[in-house]
Amino acid sequence: ESDRALVARTVDDGEGHDAKTVVGVLAVVGRPNVGKSTLVNRILGRRVAVVEDTPGVTRDRVSYDAEWSGTHFKLVDTGGWETGVEGMDSAIASQAQIAVGLADAVVLVVDAQVGVTNTDSRMVSMLRQSGKPIILAVNKIDGSSEEYLTADFWKLGLGEPYGISAMHGRGIGELLDVAIKTLAQAKKMSGFLTPSNLRRIALVGRPNVGKSSLLNQLAHQERSVVDDLAGTTRDPVDEVVTLDGQDWLFIDTAGIKRRQHKLSGAEYYSSLRTQAAIERSELALVLFDASQPISDQDLKVMSQAVDAGRAMVLVFNKWDLMDDFDRQRMERLWKTEFDQVTWAQRVNLSAKSGWHTNRLARAMREALTSWDKRIPTGKLNAFLGKVQAAHPHPLRGGKQPRILFATQASTRPPRFVVFATGFLEHGYRRYLERQIREEFGFEGTPIQISVNIRE
Ligand code: GDP
Ligand code: GDP
Repeated sequence: ESDRALVARTVDDGEGHDAKTVVGVLAVVGRPNVGKSTLVNRILGRRVAVVEDTPGVTRDRVSYDAEWSGTHFKLVDTGGWETGVEGMDSAIASQAQIAVGLADAVVLVVDAQVGVTNTDSRMVSMLRQSGKPIILAVNKIDGSSEEYLTADFWKLGLGEPYGISAMHGRGIGELLDVAIKTLAQAKKMSGFLTPSNLRRIALVGRPNVGKSSLLNQLAHQERSVVDDLAGTTRDPVDEVVTLDGQDWLFIDTAGIKRRQHKLSGAEYYSSLRTQAAIERSELALVLFDASQPISDQDLKVMSQAVDAGRAMVLVFNKWDLMDDFDRQRMERLWKTEFDQVTWAQRVNLSAKSGWHTNRLARAMREALTSWDKRIPTGKLNAFLGKVQAAHPHPLRGGKQPRILFATQASTRPPRFVVFATGFLEHGYRRYLERQIREEFGFEGTPIQISVNIRE
């Protein structure tokens, strides 16, 4: 039974340094103008003026680290939709799907000044299907004389409506108390169901690179254990795939299989899903269509994975379509567009024929081993001592910053803290990174180096 050990999902550095237990993921949903952004900003304690969302502009971040009375949780902002173009129905459907896909609980925000609308009711029925707990926040109750306005919202059938004023901070503490309690309970429930010992993989890439083809190819090659777990499983959107004798949890496969509608706004949601899948993953399998030019959207997906600090394997798909000329073009691209991620392994394959797909598991295992790896402090310092002696920091204004000491503060991804007598230039930090990689490996994982100045 131990290989099905069930533990709560945590943001963990592997050895307990600064480990923050995240109680769960909370999504804020609701129709436009009810005050979702205002509420998200309020919870995050940001003093940002609510700016009007520019249609079509993709918000860079979707998920935020939030905290309430010492409890950490992830807050997901599903705002920023385009009703005009996409239509209200498909917009609320997308929001509800996202909530289902990645949240442990949902806060549905409604507008007290407007009352219950048809859209609110439709949203409730869609959210209900997800089976996720829903907390109803009735916003714009700016004073106690308006508290009576919440009464009408009982008819949504979600239990007690919590009157709040996102703008003035009224009732937010009570709402968050309930939210944290709900998250903790939801976690306990799903904790029994999630095979969380499996390594979590996000299969990402722009539309049409071959994600769903690859997933099908991988799931069919070896018997998938999905059926064995049916009825007792994890998130309905995740799938267990056996590769090379090992089970892997592929995140949000429903989003991969679903044909993306070609409407405006679809790009926003696919980027949101990508971000959400990456957040839940340990390793990102980033797919490219090697037969096509590499686009900005391709590179954006890749940087989402790198910025999130995930282990990464790059997959160049559709290799069956490549002739000699194409292969040369790809090699040139590798040296230019990918020069910041040469640490990542690259697998050329064909999802269609299955050619080289047997190379994935090994690359994934190696990347995760690097992601988990810790270099003992003694070894690290002995090595950096030699590096510094061979190649000291250049003199700047008559001074020469020296490295005093370094330690690997955490893993997943590996983070190093270097204590130095002065500012280390970007070039020198890059040099240190290259040396560390050369000596200790770390293939397949980003590493971070921060410098701490000691006078
Ligand atoms: P979103 O589209 O759901 O993200 O809504 P916003 O957060 O952008 O808010 C929509 C409008 O409602 C803005 O003009 C806000 O200033 C206003 N608003 C938000 N919260 C409150 C509140 O608690 N009370 C009042 N009176 N107005 C609010
Ligand atoms: P997704 O949008 O990333 O899930 O991409 P799909 O898996 O739907 O693939 C998009 C198109 O590329 C489909 O027409 C696939 O048949 C095709 N395709 C996917 N992988 C390969 C491959 O390895 N070789 C070739 N020739 N076509 C592929």
